[in-house]
Amino acid sequence: MKNIAYYNGKIDTIENMQIPMLDRAVYFGDGVYDVAYIKDGSVFALDEHIKRFINSCHLIDIIPPMDTEQLENVFYSMLENIDDKSSCILYWQSSRGTAERDHTYPKNVKSNLMAYIKPKSLPDIKKRIKLISSPDLRYELCNVKTINLIPNVMASERAKRAGCDETVLVRNGIVTECSHSNISILKDGKFITAPLDNHILPGIARGHVISLCKELGIPVEERHYDYETLISADEILVTSTTTLCRAAFMLDDREVGGLDSEKVEAIQNAYLSKLG
Ligand code: PMP
Repeated sequence: MKNIAYYNGKIDTIENMQIPMLDRAVYFGDGVYDVAYIKDGSVFALDEHIKRFINSCHLIDIIPPMDTEQLENVFYSMLENIDDKSSCILYWQSSRGTAERDHTYPKNVKSNLMAYIKPKSLPDIKKRIKLISSPDLRYELCNVKTINLIPNVMASERAKRAGCDETVLVRNGIVTECSHSNISILKDGKFITAPLDNHILPGIARGHVISLCKELGIPVEERHYDYETLISADEILVTSTTTLCRAAFMLDDREVGGLDSEKVEAIQNAYLSKLG
């Protein structure tokens, strides 16, 4: 198969799969999700993605649909059906369940599991990207990987319309993350990134880049920094599962970064070799 979709045990192509109207994902976006990258038939850091997914479930009182081993079994048996496993993404989500529309939810309702795998190639990560910034209009639960993504969708579209790759979100002058990535900087030889709190998603790629920096002897500081610090950074790094780690050359129509390209390259090369 070119792609495969799963919904509570049903298997079909992504195009043909249908889900019930009363799935709470449909009318409330009442669910959580995760995305992992597949390289040559192996899901990269699947254990970390599942751990974050289960944590997201717990943070909003959703009963996870399965345990870690069962999820791994579902995903790997889906993957067996894919013709070209060289470069794919695995997406999955769990909504709180299927129930009549009501803001409150039935006790112990069974969560739904939807998943798909489709081919997707990585971008050229050595190509520098363009960013714009925007106020962070999101709420106080940004650490939950919820499917309820309206402010992220709007911010992402703003970047696209401006001919940019990502939108940097700024909350009260402080840089949080991007619409669908984390953001960090290199300054005076140090890697600086926002700390894990309820204003950012604990990105898996962010975590890998932190470990790689430590392995490369680059000091890491997890602390808040403001927009001025961002724009005057030696390098701006944007990380996510499906784009790994890319450096920016433009932010809000001003030239940025480019002052520590050796470290950028070292981090990127280390990431590519970790991927296998
Ligand atoms: N922040 C947000 C808001 C995201 O949606 C994502 C993932 N798309 C990330 C950060 C990066 O997370 P990860 O490295 O796990 O892909």
